[in-house]
Amino acid sequence: MTTEAEKHAANGAPVCRICEQYGFSVDGYLEDALRKLEARPELLADESEYTYRLSVCEKCEHIMADGCCRMCGCYVVLRARTRDAACPMRNRWRHS
Ligand code: SF4
Repeated sequence: MTTEAEKHAANGAPVCRICEQYGFSVDGYLEDALRKLEARPELLADESEYTYRLSVCEKCEHIMADGCCRMCGCYVVLRARTRDAACPMRNRWRHS
């Protein structure tokens, strides 16, 4: 069985020794965090804003192979889903 740490290493992402040691599942963490966030609709960015933000992140040089932003350390799927969050790089999510 491939561990999360092995998958991240294969993608060129840094490997966290704590995650490796305890068999931490990033996928499980993201599912759980998104489920909790989506239970609070008042905190959510709407779908079009969420999609727009992710499209900006996809093209950004600061996104890492595991989906984390190098500038803030957040998983962008969580940060972008949060209505009042902002991109840490002079807010690249701002609409021009
Ligand atoms: S949050 Fe901003 S800096 Fe981070 S990956 Fe997305 S666009 Fe880039």
